[in-house]
Amino acid sequence: MVIGLGRFGGAVALTLERMGHEVLAADLDPRLVEEFAGEVTKAVEADCTDVAVLRQLGVADFEAAVVAIGTDIEASVLAVLALADVGLTNIWAKAVNENHARILERIGAAHVVFPEQRMGERVARLLNERLLDFIAFGDEFAIARLRAPEPIVGLPLMTSECRRKYKVTVVGVKRKGEDFIHAVPDTLVFPDDELVVSGRIPDIEEFSAI
Ligand code: ADP
Repeated sequence: MVIGLGRFGGAVALTLERMGHEVLAADLDPRLVEEFAGEVTKAVEADCTDVAVLRQLGVADFEAAVVAIGTDIEASVLAVLALADVGLTNIWAKAVNENHARILERIGAAHVVFPEQRMGERVARLLNERLLDFIAFGDEFAIARLRAPEPIVGLPLMTSECRRKYKVTVVGVKRKGEDFIHAVPDTLVFPDDELVVSGRIPDIEEFSAI
């Protein structure tokens, strides 16, 4: 179930539907409900802060619910609370700030996401021209796709000793026009190769700038 069909919730609902899931999408705004009616399994106009409404919709039987209400923090909190009250445990919720997130976690959200902050961080990191893609896990750890830094080009990975010297692990290598391959010690790095590396964020940033 997706509650709130703004930009974020709308994208979640449509993507889940495309992935083959049955999606119940709800919003207070009848225009949004109409817009999504043909796009998801079922779209309903409903106030999802109301436990009775959620019961009527049979929400307790759903596998997961995403609360995608950002601006109205009170409605977001009440919707998470109502979902927890009907017995749902796999609750995902969008938060607009740290305090909002702390409350959502405390009242029963299993996963809290910060889409705007996360995207802002991603864009800032991707402005570094060697970094092509970046996924941060928690605050410290990340996996990144980047152009092979000059000092390790022309060497097999066991010689460039990325883990010892730069504290990053090269997971895969992609040669132009070829598929990614898993990195092994004798994988040779060519000038236009892309690497997938894992490590602590500051180490990845440093490695991308050597
Ligand atoms: P975004 O920034 O992703 O567009 P918003 O916070 O602007 O997110 O949008 C949240 C959506 O949630 C709006 O379409 C709003 O109508 C809907 N919404 C707000 N309160 C409720 C509620 N109690 N029940 C269902 N939908 C709600």
